[in-house]
Order: sequence, then structure tokens, then C-alpha cells
Amino acid sequence: MFDVIIAGCGPTGAMLAAELHLHDVRVLVLEKETEPTSAVRIVGLHIRSLELMAMRGLLTRLLEHGRKRPAAGFFAAINKPAPTGLDSAYAYLLGIPQPVIERLLEQHAIDLGAQVRRGQAVTGLAQDDEGVTVELSDGQQLRTRYLVGCDGARSTVRKLLGVGFPGEPARTETLMGEMEVGVPPEEVAATVATIRETHKRFWLRPAGVGVYSVVVPAADVSDRARRPTLEDFRQRLRAVAGTDFGVHSPRWMSRFGDATRLAERYRVGRVLLAGDAAHIHPPIGGQGLNLGVQDAVNLGWKLAAQVRGWAPETLLDTYQAERHPVAADVLDNTRAQTELLSSEPGAQAVRRLLTELMDFDEVNRHLLEKITGVGIRYDVGEGPDLLGRRLRDVDLRHGNLYALLHRGRGLLLDRTERLSVGGWSDRVDHLADPTADLDVPGVLMRPDGHVAWIGDDQQDLDDHLSRWFGEPADQGRRL
Ligand SMILES: Cc1cc2nc3c(=O)[nH]c(=O)nc-3n(C[C@H](O)[C@H](O)[C@H](O)COP(=O)(O)OP(=O)(O)OC[C@H]3O[C@@H](n4cnc5c(N)ncnc54)[C@H](O)[C@@H]3O)c2cc1C
Repeated sequence: MFDVIIAGCGPTGAMLAAELHLHDVRVLVLEKETEPTSAVRIVGLHIRSLELMAMRGLLTRLLEHGRKRPAAGFFAAINKPAPTGLDSAYAYLLGIPQPVIERLLEQHAIDLGAQVRRGQAVTGLAQDDEGVTVELSDGQQLRTRYLVGCDGARSTVRKLLGVGFPGEPARTETLMGEMEVGVPPEEVAATVATIRETHKRFWLRPAGVGVYSVVVPAADVSDRARRPTLEDFRQRLRAVAGTDFGVHSPRWMSRFGDATRLAERYRVGRVLLAGDAAHIHPPIGGQGLNLGVQDAVNLGWKLAAQVRGWAPETLLDTYQAERHPVAADVLDNTRAQTELLSSEPGAQAVRRLLTELMDFDEVNRHLLEKITGVGIRYDVGEGPDLLGRRLRDVDLRHGNLYALLHRGRGLLLDRTERLSVGGWSDRVDHLADPTADLDVPGVLMRPDGHVAWIGDDQQDLDDHLSRWFGEPADQGRRL
């Protein structure tokens, strides 16, 4: 009997496994592929994900493999500088190959104690009051208290649950791959610059010695299960650019569509969904992986609390209540961005107008906060604007706030030096520091870094500790 089985060891599944293991939950990750993916697409980690990685002590390792870029130019690829005074110590984009993120997160989960079994796909499930029976492709059956489907856009778990996935089907499809070219780099660069003036879904960019990353619109929407061939790339390059650049020796080839869909529910009893299994949208703005990793951090501590037996009655349901609207918002912004990339005259006029509006810092900031996840505010009740938002990393008398969050526990940051976490000290740390760079007396942070309470009244704090961390157990301890 496992506590939690996770279907899928993509970025969402690996992150969730690690988050659960911070709380000593017995986790098994089942991954259908025997080997990690070889499709080396570079993805961008946005500010909120970088903050989460810093909170879990993973950022230094990621930085070794990525390239920092300015936190700007994401919304519909409109080229504007970053808004002024971004309120984060991690105000950049990290360009990094997705397989590297997956490898680091999987290793992190394994280091913490998670088991990962490759070459084992989830094919069936049946749940009852005590748990879930999970059936695997080799006929084996496993028992678990909870199952989470992190098995990507075509999620088997979602389909087995019968959860609806309404939205819009793909209207366009794009071929993407890495290959060598047979013409000089200057010739590639000149042709690409001309074509990109009218075709935004087209590029050839150097991706290592002699290798180019190639993106070109497909002729139509086809069967995604069929892998594109080199001949498909040649034909489409000739159709769009007038030359196939002599492409040869592909490293990998793939296709992606612009379908936009959101699962109707994120939870059915003891089975939950996260990441692409719960939401899909076009890659514009580079948000999918970020969204999945953030789902995992929102869900991890709540599911762990449920397994460990201290979760308040409704805690697990706050996962859907908080994350479903966030995904709906991302879907909407990708719909808007897709329109803005159209070459239709009306869409182009709206794009010009928005480009002008983004000269206003507030507009630019609003769009950036949307894409990077730092603008998210969960509905945790009435109160100051900071309530429900993530707390930025803050300088402390000794070190910084995020360094105290590696273990995934709650934290009371107390500038009054009078407050206490009392009987919640097994779940919540307490740091009394009057020098903390904050303009409120005390803040209770959830393990995902969002603010659950602000104030200086012990009784009010106790009520909120109960609300988020259940019944008190023993007496408090100070860091
Ligand atoms: C061209 C392109 C560019 C992108 N760029 C960005 C970007 O810049 N930033 C960004 O944030 N996102 C980006 N994305 C999106 C990002 O790649 C996905 O959102 C992300 O991979 C989702 O992670 P996941 O773990 O939820 O799902 P997946 O990565 O799809 O992982 C699911 C895993 O589950 C496994 N699996 C499937 N079925 C089963 C089963 N039945 N049993 C067991 N295992 C199973 C799969 O093998 C896979 O390993 C991009 C996507 C594309 C196509």
C-alpha cells in the first residue's frame, strides 16, 4: 500500500513527488517511457517558478544549466523592456532545456526518497473508501491511498475518471525539431529575418555546433500520434520560406498544436489531476510547465496533510478552488496572445494598440505578472492586498526568507517577537526577527509560500493556524 501513486514523471509528477516526500509520504511514480525524453526544447522558467525553486534549494543547480534572460517580451512576443522595480529577487527568465529540468526534479524526488519506476504505464483504476487500485500495462495491480494523474495532455487517468476536458480543438499545428542545415549561417539568418516579418510561427535558430532548432507551421492539423518525418519539414520549409535550407540529420522531430482545454474537475474522490493532464493551451508565453510545477507545489503539502492525518476538512478541496481559476486565466491569456499573433489586419491593429499601451508601466507590469505567475492571489478571505499572494524573498537578520522554506513547512515570520506557533510547531516554523524587510507585524506563510494571515493578534493567528494546519499537537519551538 503506497500513500500516493503518481502517474507520469514529467516536470509536474517529479515536482509533486518531491513535495510529498518532504512530508515523509510514501510515493511511487509510474512513468510509461523507459527513457527520459530526447526532445531538447528550451523552455523558460518564469519568476514564480524560479522563486519556488529557490524556496526548495534547487535554483543553484538549475542556474548551472540555463541562461538568464530579461523578464520581458513574453506577452504575444511584443518586444518591450521589463517594467520597472519588479518585486522579486529572481526577476529574470531562465532559458533551460526541458529534459534538464525533468532530470533535476526527478533526481531531487529520488534523493528525498521517492521511487520512480520507468516503463510502467497506468492503464486502469478503481477507487473505494480506503484507497485506489491501480492497474499497470503489464497486468500488475497496486494499492494506494491516493492517485494523482500527472500524465500529460492525453492523460489516461483523466479519461479513466471520465472527467470532461472541454475547450477548443487545435486550429493550427507546428512542426518543431533539431537538425543540421546545408547552407551557410548568414544565408539562414537573412532568410529567417525576412520570413519572420510575416510568419511568427517560424524560426531556425542555432542550437549547438552545426545544429539548428527548426520551427515551421504544419500544412494542417493531423494525427498527433504520427511523428513528422524529415520530408515533412523539407516540404513545409519550402512552402513557407522558399527553401528547405538543405536540412538533414535530425536529432529529434515533433509537432504541437494549439488546442485549449481545461479539465472540469481536478479531483474525483481519491484521484486528482495536475499539470497538462488538467489543462492544455498553446505554448505562447511559455507557461505550461510553469503552471504544472506550481500545481504540484500547491497540491503537495495539502495532499501530504491529508495522508498524515492533520488536514482540516476542506484543505484538499482548496487545490481545485485555487488552481482551476489560475489555469482558466492562463488559457485566456494564451487565447488572447494567439489572436494577437494573427496576420489579419484587425488583429494586427489590436497588436499595435496594445504595443502602445504597454508603454504604460502598469499595463506592462500587469501582463508580466500574469505570465510569470507572481500576480496570483488566492481567495483566502478579506484582508490586505498581500493576503493570498506569494511573499517575495525577504532579507532577514541572518540570511533570507526562502532559505528557511526548503523543508516545505509553514512559517510564521514574526516582527513583533511576541507571537507563537504553539501546538503547530511540528508543521509550522517560527522566526522572530524585527529586522525582517516587511511592512506588516507578522505573516503566516503556507508551505507553498502564499500568505495565509497577516497581523499581530495571537488569538486571530491561532484561528488561522487551525484553518490551514489543523488541530494543534504539542508545544512550540523557535528557530
Ligand atoms: C514547443 C513547446 C514549447 C514549450 N515551451 C514552454 C515554456 O517555455 N515554458 C513552459 O512553462 N512550458 C512550455 N511548454 C509546455 C510544457 O512542455 C508542458 O506544459 C509540460 O511538459 C507539462 O508537464 P507535465 O509534467 O504536466 O506533462 P508531461 O511533460 O506531458 O509529462 C507527462 C508524463 O507522463 C507520462 N505518461 C503518460 N501517460 C502515462 C501513463 N498512462 N502512465 C504513466 N505515465 C504516463 C509521459 O510519458 C510523460 O513523461 C512548451 C510546450 C511545447 C510543445
